[in-house]
Amino acid sequence: MQFKQVVGQIELKKQLIGKVKSEKIPHALLFLGQEGVGTLPLAIAFAQYVNCLEPSDTDSCGQCSSCRKMEKLIHPDLHFSFPFIKTNDIKTTDPLLPLWREFLEKNSYGTYRSWLDVIAAENKQGNIPNEECKNFLSKLTLMSFEAKYKVLILWMPEFLGQSGNILLKMIEEPPAGTLFFLVGRESDSILPTILSRVQTIKVPGIETEHLSYYLEHILGVPSNNSVSLVNVAEGNLNEAVRLFENEASNNEELFKRWMRLCYALPQGADELVQWILSVSVLGREAQKGLLHYGLFLIREAFLFKFGASKKERLNPSEQDFVSKFSNLVNEKNVPMFSQILSDGQSYIERNGNPKIIFHALSLEINAAFRKA
Ligand SMILES: [Zn+2]
Repeated sequence: MQFKQVVGQIELKKQLIGKVKSEKIPHALLFLGQEGVGTLPLAIAFAQYVNCLEPSDTDSCGQCSSCRKMEKLIHPDLHFSFPFIKTNDIKTTDPLLPLWREFLEKNSYGTYRSWLDVIAAENKQGNIPNEECKNFLSKLTLMSFEAKYKVLILWMPEFLGQSGNILLKMIEEPPAGTLFFLVGRESDSILPTILSRVQTIKVPGIETEHLSYYLEHILGVPSNNSVSLVNVAEGNLNEAVRLFENEASNNEELFKRWMRLCYALPQGADELVQWILSVSVLGREAQKGLLHYGLFLIREAFLFKFGASKKERLNPSEQDFVSKFSNLVNEKNVPMFSQILSDGQSYIERNGNPKIIFHALSLEINAAFRKA
């Protein structure tokens, strides 16, 4: 993967290339950012760049013998580790590598949840157990190498648990020419002993113009539409794609109707039950997309109240809704609405029952309206 295949992140790419040029590549880096901003693609592109035989000032060549193997993710000095479900047959990530490569080739912006779906983890949580750590440590120390650097890309160090402690010495004093690229999303969930031994690169949201360009030219989203998608997605490519795909499910109508029904409770409870049923059959991603969209509209309503809403972020019917909704929100209930909707997203992420979740959220939203 070359840097040019990573959407936006112009400043970071420059910084990373600068480290190579000044020969100051830290031996342990943590790419930290939300899923969908490109942390993993950046780490992969950087691994390719450091080993490229003919790198330019802006990218790896894509042609040399090293790049060709890196492109297929089969370079013998490129190692991966990631969360998985340990079973009697699967004790390390080795048997999963073909699936992993396929996963990345389809979408290097793939999420933790979508990876678990690939390995059919159902409701289980993945982790990176001891055996796996020992396995890649032995690869890094024992196997000979052909490239300038051996690189381990460890995706989601959040799932290392205490097994992560066996890595500490290696991260601190790695064998010559060994680089650790950790790719995580929440520093709070990473062992502090690991955090203190890596250099963290915070990966921000993708620049608006680059994300719009991607949506319009790669996904074929009409330009008037892409602006609103990019604003709602806040630099998160997965979110933008999800919103685009969910347009058919019509988040705007669904969300407005939901708010009207919650507000009217206890009247119209039957209608609310129908609404919950119709939402519960949407996919998990669509449900999260609806809640994410709701968070955006509520925040816009709050901004509108204080004259800080920007019209260009909304279409005319959204503007109309936001101006009416702004009469129902205040300093007390806006944090409640935000909390309720973000909690909903994480319940769905954790595979909760959507009927129960949306039912509970509806009651909480009703209570939040009463705080007006
Ligand atoms: Zn090359």
